Amino acid sequence: MKKITVIGAGFAGLTIALKLAQKGFKVHLHEKSPRLGGLLGTEHGEYGMAERAANSMILTDRSEKLFKEIGLDLAFPLESSKKRFIFRGFPKAMPLNPFEILKVAFTVIPRVLFAKATLKPQAGETLKDWGLRRLGKAATTYLLGPAMQGIYANEAQDLSASLIISPLFKKDREKFRGTISGPQGMQDIVDYLHATLQQLDVEIYLESDLDVSTVEGPVVIATSASAAANILKTRAPELSALLTRVNMSSLISATVFFDKAQTKFKGFGCLIPRGLKLRTFGVLMPPYIFAGRNKTYNETWIMGGKNNQDLLNYSDKDLLDFISKERKTIFKRQDTILDAKIFRWDRALPLYDLELEKIQAELSEKPAPTDIFLHGNYLSGIGLSKILERSERLCEQIASQHGS
Ligand SMILES: Cc1cc2nc3c(=O)[nH]c(=O)nc-3n(C[C@H](O)[C@H](O)[C@H](O)COP(=O)(O)OP(=O)(O)OC[C@H]3O[C@@H](n4cnc5c(N)ncnc54)[C@H](O)[C@@H]3O)c2cc1C
Repeated sequence: MKKITVIGAGFAGLTIALKLAQKGFKVHLHEKSPRLGGLLGTEHGEYGMAERAANSMILTDRSEKLFKEIGLDLAFPLESSKKRFIFRGFPKAMPLNPFEILKVAFTVIPRVLFAKATLKPQAGETLKDWGLRRLGKAATTYLLGPAMQGIYANEAQDLSASLIISPLFKKDREKFRGTISGPQGMQDIVDYLHATLQQLDVEIYLESDLDVSTVEGPVVIATSASAAANILKTRAPELSALLTRVNMSSLISATVFFDKAQTKFKGFGCLIPRGLKLRTFGVLMPPYIFAGRNKTYNETWIMGGKNNQDLLNYSDKDLLDFISKERKTIFKRQDTILDAKIFRWDRALPLYDLELEKIQAELSEKPAPTDIFLHGNYLSGIGLSKILERSERLCEQIASQHGS
């Protein structure tokens, strides 16, 4: 049995460890913190549950297979989650007016039908510039910007169109079939992955500070880009220097429990466009997304990103005052806050900006040393379904290079 070391036990580390163990590798999984899951996890309290970061994952054939492999039931979203809102004066299912919709239709439909290639972004183009060039101002401000901000947790002007739009043109792109979670939240995914890894005899080391230059055999570094840069400083200094250039952004996820339910806008949540003097990225409505999340009415407020890093320094009280103020503008409500679970994620996510576009190009020209494999949310997408896809592809690559 060939030994392989995986460093980092977030979703990337847990899923690559699973795939490698299934292939017959003897996997050693090292995690720096005292718990598995990284950004994934759920906390349960007096008023109900709160996700630490990710709220759900996209349902694809791969994610459905993963749940089956680890023996976890899929929690499907409620009918009410089908509605999604974008704020423009108030939360709207369609934020564009009829004139703006017609304008987008006349610009985009002929291109989709007859000249799809002209929709492809140019290298070095920001998402905002691509949107303005191809969709127009209203659709960029009120549809594209908020939608991508909801995934990449940054603003269209700071994102790379190439990294975000180009994958949508891939022919072998996975079909998105909705969203899923575990019945008791995202912690279920961590717990069931953990149990399956134990059944497959994966050796798990918590609170491990492994020196990678002492490890023999192939190593998968499944951490954030900034942690990977640190880990590789002595073993692969050039690669480490490249990864140091990845810009990281910090985020806050605050689940707030209220004394009264907001019932006027029932849906997955509401995204907030930029330029409206509001700083929140979006508000999720867990009681309207999955069953069993309505013990006490709650909303999950997502804030931060490159241009709002100062919010990370707010005290809990200041943050809740800030949320109450923005909530008054968005939902026109002033309910009493009963409790809140606030998670501050310092330098948690990579910024999918023009610098990352260059770094990914350099990585493909100058690959890592043959016994080092990089994994994580800065390589092929931030979402869990993309990370899972990379786990499968990377496992095939490792098996073909190193056997098992
Ligand atoms: C607020 C928020 C909401 C999100 N919502 C969604 C969502 O709804 N759906 C979705 O698909 N995605 C969502 N995401 C993104 C998704 O959660 C992340 O991209 C994903 O969980 C990252 O997984 P990872 O394993 O790459 O990294 P991480 O979860 O960061 O895991 C890396 C692990 O490596 C460990 N580590 C670091 N250094 C070392 C070291 N030296 N030695 C050993 N271990 C080390 C860390 O402790 C950590 O456990 C969200 C992210 C945030 C922040």
